[in-house]
Amino acid sequence: MSLKYELSHTKMRYRELFQDIREMLENRLNDLRSKFTCPVCELEGTVPELLEPLPHKDCGYSDWYQAGIRLLEQEVGKDILEQLEQINAYKKTFSCHMCGVCCRFASSEFSYEELLEKSQQGDTFASQFTSVFLPYESMEAAHKKFPQMVNDVLAEVEEQERSSVYFYHCPYVGEDNRCTIFGNPKRPEFCATYPDTPLTFIYNQCAWKPWKDETHDEALKAHATIELATYFLAKLHDSLN
Ligand SMILES: [Zn+2]
Repeated sequence: MSLKYELSHTKMRYRELFQDIREMLENRLNDLRSKFTCPVCELEGTVPELLEPLPHKDCGYSDWYQAGIRLLEQEVGKDILEQLEQINAYKKTFSCHMCGVCCRFASSEFSYEELLEKSQQGDTFASQFTSVFLPYESMEAAHKKFPQMVNDVLAEVEEQERSSVYFYHCPYVGEDNRCTIFGNPKRPEFCATYPDTPLTFIYNQCAWKPWKDETHDEALKAHATIELATYFLAKLHDSLN
């Protein structure tokens, strides 16, 4: 189990994908422009640039922006949902090995105090996490129990961020690796849906590892597309006002 701290290679791959998707979305939105015109802009010999405020009141290109909004909300939005559904459906072809490692070893970029604070501020994940997980006394204590995994996590994190990696364990896992609060309302939902995205740090022997490896890039693309589409939508709405 891991809160989403940024892993170095993931960060780099995300930046690459982000640029590609940004270009692709800009091209699609720009291609739409040729379907529209505006007599005022035509007289002045100008065309508005994508995401710029419209040059004058009742500009004909407001229909272009409306079409852009539809493209993002309908086509692009539908594609992302389908991708995420496929990733999720593929997950169902795997099943947990009951190794118990995700209960005994979790990592986060946040300290326990920070998580408690986030939880008080209404962060659902932090609140579920702190409802069961407890911090290891120190990084050394975590390293003593799971040396390889502590090293693996640290290797994935950029050097300057290594001092802010924290390790946690759940006291409710039994010796047989079964959850002692299974079926009890105290057991948070994220335990049942773990790992809900392939963007989580997953132990090498974990049953979900092949799923993560095979879908990681698709998940990153979906996340980058959501981030960009949200940004473009806000810009387009702003430009129309
Ligand atoms: Zn115009």
